Formats: sequence, structure tokens, C-alpha cells
Amino acid sequence: MPAAPEMPWLPAQLNALLAQQGHALLLEGPSGLGQFALAMGWAKALLCEAHALGTPLAPACGVCESCHAVQVHTHPDLLVLLPEAMQLDLGWSSADTDSASEAKRKPSQEIRVEAMRKMITFCQRTDARGRGKVVVVYPAESMNTVTANALLKTLEEPPGNSRFVLATEASHRLLPTIRSRCHSWKMAWPADAEIHAWLSAGHSTAEQVQGAMQASGGRPQNAWELLQSGFEPQAWSQLPRQLLQGQAGLLAAASPSQTIAVLQQLCHDVMAMVVGAVPRYFSQDSLKPLVAHLGAQTGETITQQLQQGGQSPRQRTLERLAQWSVDLQQAQRTSEHPFAPELMLTALLDQASQALQAKR
Ligand SMILES: [Zn+2]
Repeated sequence: MPAAPEMPWLPAQLNALLAQQGHALLLEGPSGLGQFALAMGWAKALLCEAHALGTPLAPACGVCESCHAVQVHTHPDLLVLLPEAMQLDLGWSSADTDSASEAKRKPSQEIRVEAMRKMITFCQRTDARGRGKVVVVYPAESMNTVTANALLKTLEEPPGNSRFVLATEASHRLLPTIRSRCHSWKMAWPADAEIHAWLSAGHSTAEQVQGAMQASGGRPQNAWELLQSGFEPQAWSQLPRQLLQGQAGLLAAASPSQTIAVLQQLCHDVMAMVVGAVPRYFSQDSLKPLVAHLGAQTGETITQQLQQGGQSPRQRTLERLAQWSVDLQQAQRTSEHPFAPELMLTALLDQASQALQAKR
């Protein structure tokens, strides 16, 4: 996937952050707004050697020795902690996970204890280039309890010249004590026009950009990834009708975790439509056949309703959809290690048919 162009909504946020004091930052907000890029921008600015020591901080120059070292991932005073599974995606794969026994293991989704050990050692030694040291943790919610507590101790008694930037897409999953030790920064949601202009730089058509924006719930980085993976707006809008007819549509080519994510979006939107709210990921038009179908299922007599415990048909539909949502969350937890991906897809589609009372 080609690297995305610089996100134009980040520089103003970086300037605001650099004007603040504090040794620990927490960048919070939903995924896809550029948390990691902003965290790296902050770290790079702190380490940049273009400005004289003691003068106000400015965004990194990009050309000094320090900036170059950050770019090639060899800066001795920068430690970037990522789950293994993300290191490759973000171009930060570390050499020390390449040993034979490690290579066989599936890359971890967590920031593991070894990473914290590295962090503690890193914080205890003196800086090599005289600008202090910076630790980047992303996504901060991927620390397990042990690593989070190790970090907490370091945040409570920060070694003299270490600073921290934690970026998270789920701050509610962080230890409250970690949140309270950090200066919080809520990621700004860029204007639609700004996102459109940024996404269009990837040579997608206006229709594709519009469709990807909707399918990603308006989160720019997620929309960018969709476009890079060949997103087709038509296939997306056909999916609800296809599922109703017992077809897999674009899910036939998706991984289990992608399938679950799409079905969760669909479940959310169908529930929204059933209670009369506006859907977020699919257009109202594309959902209409599904919602009409669910409505048609509810033409029961009062006697039948009473036999069902007095619940209204709509209530039962909502309960079925809510149960589907719970089932999808459970499936998500096992989707990283499915025993047989094809079987999982079939099971997920069966589940969807049942929730939507579709053909199978
Ligand atoms: Zn520089």
C-alpha cells in the first residue's frame, strides 16, 4: 500500500501541542484521525537539533542528523512501542523478533512485557544526543495489565529527561491512573472538504472517495485504506440486498476479521434504521430492502404477539439484532486465530441470515 500523503489537519494540532508543557501526552480519539503520525511528529520535534536548546519548540526540520535518524529508525533517544502485529504495517518491524522460534509464533496484538523491559532500561540511561528521550506508545490500549502497570510506575516517577506520548483509539480501555498522569489531547475531526481533498490525492474518483468516506464512518485513514485496497462503492451498496438473498457479495473475498467488521457496521445501521435514526456506514437506499423485509416479518396478529410474551414485533427484531451484535463481538475475539477461516465465514453468514431472517 503506498504511503498516504501528509494529513493537512495535523500541523495545527502539532503546533498547539508543542506550545504546551508536560512530560506525558495522551492523544485520544476514534481511529483513523492520524494519532500515530501526530505522536511521531511530536517526538521528532522534541528531538530535532535545528533549534537551539532552550528556545521554543517548533515542528521538526526534517533534514538535521536527528530527524534523519528518526526517519531510518536508528535514533538512540527514541523508543517506539507497537504491538508486533502493527510493526510491519507501520514500517517499524524490529530486528530482534526475527529469530527462528519467534518467527513461527503469530505476531502479537499486544504490547508485551519484553517491550516494557526495553522501555525501563531506555528510560534509565542518559540521552545520547542531548535533547532528552522520547517514548511513543501506540495504540496505548494494546498494553496488557502488566505492561500498563510498568508504564504507570515510570509515569509516576519519570526519569529526569524522558518524555512520553501515548496515542489511543480507545482511551476508556486505559487504566484511569495512566490517563490521569497524562496531558490529554482530543484529536480534531477534520472538515469533510479537507478529508475529500486528501483522499482525492490518491487518484480515486469522486464517487469512490464519497463511498469510502461513508463506508468508513467518516474516518479518513480508514477510508484511505479502503481506497488503496480497491474499494468499489457499488459492491458496498449492493451488500445489504445480497445478504438478504443469501449471497456473500464482497464478503466472499474478505478475511474473517474484515467480515466481522463489515457485519458490525451493517448491524449498527440496520438497528439505527429500525429505530428511525440515520445509518452511518451504508446509504439509506441500500438498506431499504433489508429494513422493509424486517418490517414485513412483523405482520402478526395480536394473539400471536401475546403468545410471544407481549413484546412488539419491533422489540423482538431489535433484540435479535442486539444479540447479533453481541455474537459478532465474541467472534471478533477469536477471529485472529480462526481454526478454519472458510468455516468461520459460513458461520458468520448463517448468523447474519438468522438475524436478518434472510434466505440461506
Ligand atoms: Zn531536525
